[in-house]
Amino acid sequence: MKIQTFSILAGSEACNARCPFCVSKMTLPLTEELENLKEPEVNWRNFRIACALAKDSGVTTAMFTGKGEPTLFPGQITKYLEAMTPFAFPLIEMQTNGIMMAEKPERYDPFLKEWYRLGLTLFAISVVHYDPEKNREVYLPYKDSYIDLSELITRLHAYGFSVRLTCIMANGFIDSREKILSLLSFAKTNRIEQLTVTPVNKPDEEHSHSGEVWQWTNAHHLTDEQVLDITQLIEQKGSHLLTLQHGARVFDVAGQNICLNSCLTMHQAGEDLRNLIFHPDGHLRYYWQYEGATLL
Ligand code: SF4
Repeated sequence: MKIQTFSILAGSEACNARCPFCVSKMTLPLTEELENLKEPEVNWRNFRIACALAKDSGVTTAMFTGKGEPTLFPGQITKYLEAMTPFAFPLIEMQTNGIMMAEKPERYDPFLKEWYRLGLTLFAISVVHYDPEKNREVYLPYKDSYIDLSELITRLHAYGFSVRLTCIMANGFIDSREKILSLLSFAKTNRIEQLTVTPVNKPDEEHSHSGEVWQWTNAHHLTDEQVLDITQLIEQKGSHLLTLQHGARVFDVAGQNICLNSCLTMHQAGEDLRNLIFHPDGHLRYYWQYEGATLL
């Protein structure tokens, strides 16, 4: 079986952002309390088994992700990277909202140095816009301002990391061809190595019990016309570079790549598993959607 990505659900469900579309609602501690959070327990035995399986299955990319913000536990990220060293994954990525690293450079800079030494290759920073006020509205509604994103990108580049901006497109945010062009320009100016855009998931019945998420996504999901407008722009202005296994397409638009994602969907029937997902309690799964898809 060939597996493309090894996802590590690092951290806990705690997050310092407050995204109204986040379905894994969490304890939401205040920023001041975050440094005192207790590291979640990790089943290290099963983590090593997961690494061995991932390696034997041809994984090229390992990615730290989470139900909350993985960088809230920087010491534990170091431990994960140390445990992964013998397996020599070529690409190791960190999905993050970037807020802690931007707000606490004195705490995080030593970790950045160490993570680079241990093989971390790329930070995937989630955003909803190039405009800081729009990002503040979504990520940090309880604060007066958003982080200095350009400064964070420059710092990560200075340490040797690549940076991907993963933009969630939503109505009232990135929702038109003009805004996509401005986003591309922001990415190019900041020498972003990869840009990914994904429409916010349409609400479904399953989440209708989660009032805030359902209301926000219901009010902000892109219409079919908006998606078509954006897709046509990218197809017209861009050169198609490749289609990824899950159907996302990567284009080059005037020297800036952009990956057009539909959303996290099921694989085509019969396709090999393409994701191994490690949970800190030791469970190893191969679908995000189904708890029953369990190997360990
Ligand atoms: S940054 Fe991620 S985990 Fe945190 S609230 Fe937003 S979507 Fe949820």
